[in-house]
Amino acid sequence: MLRTRFAPSPNGPLHLGHAYAAVVAHDLARAAGGAFLVRIEDIDGARSLPALAAEFLADLAWLGLTWDEAVVHQSARLPRYAAAAEHLRALGLLYPCTCTRTEVLAASRATGPDGPVYPGTCRGRTDRPAGAAWRLDMAAALARTGPLSWDDALAGRQLARPERFGDVVLVRKDAPASYHLAVTLDDAAQGISLVTRGADLFAATDVHRLLQALLDLPVPRWHHHGLLIGADGRKLAKRRGAPALADLRRAAGPTDGLALANSLRKGQIPAGLTLAPSLEDTP
Ligand code: GLU
Repeated sequence: MLRTRFAPSPNGPLHLGHAYAAVVAHDLARAAGGAFLVRIEDIDGARSLPALAAEFLADLAWLGLTWDEAVVHQSARLPRYAAAAEHLRALGLLYPCTCTRTEVLAASRATGPDGPVYPGTCRGRTDRPAGAAWRLDMAAALARTGPLSWDDALAGRQLARPERFGDVVLVRKDAPASYHLAVTLDDAAQGISLVTRGADLFAATDVHRLLQALLDLPVPRWHHHGLLIGADGRKLAKRRGAPALADLRRAAGPTDGLALANSLRKGQIPAGLTLAPSLEDTP
């Protein structure tokens, strides 16, 4: 059975880009008689605002979307992330890193899909300093798995190139897991068979495919959809002034959410916005 999910992070209100993402995931599941799940990715340290989760669910309901099964909160799954990190440590694939962001920036000699690539300063460390981040030894991980590929419903078969990211952080200093580790474990635990999300996360899938291979997790398919682009030519973002769905919901009537979802379904994008199918991130 096809299982999709919408996995927002409660560090800011949802905007129209989220509405589009949720409609895509919901409709793909419904068209296949499958399940649409919601997961709240609330482990982003002080940036996570628990109260927003209830707003998110109200936004989804306003859009006329229904979800199956109980909503999962990442904050309830910390032991699972810790166990996976311990497993990777036991395989000799993680090392502690105490470098500051400034040190990484100063020493980095390459830029990857997520910004400056870590130059490997702490690679090979075997101590367990308190409060360290834990990085994946990318070369050792790839030596273990060999070449990997994955399938995108729109873009077709992709050869994974996670080495572009360098030694990614899997356990953050300020959070119990990184996005890459938590999302990979959660999608597997929730039996997600089609991971739908914006094309800005296309490259990140290479890292997730690698983690699936290292952790013996099932391999789903992906559907990276286009992004809503604002008048400034950049991906919609609350910090750049994209209106909050919750504000639209409060200002409009209860049926307007359904009308909005139906317009997005038909590719009718609200004035001033465009839908970019690009696989590239729009910074
Ligand atoms: N939580 C992520 C976000 O809000 C999305 C994660 C995903 O879909 O893989 O951007």
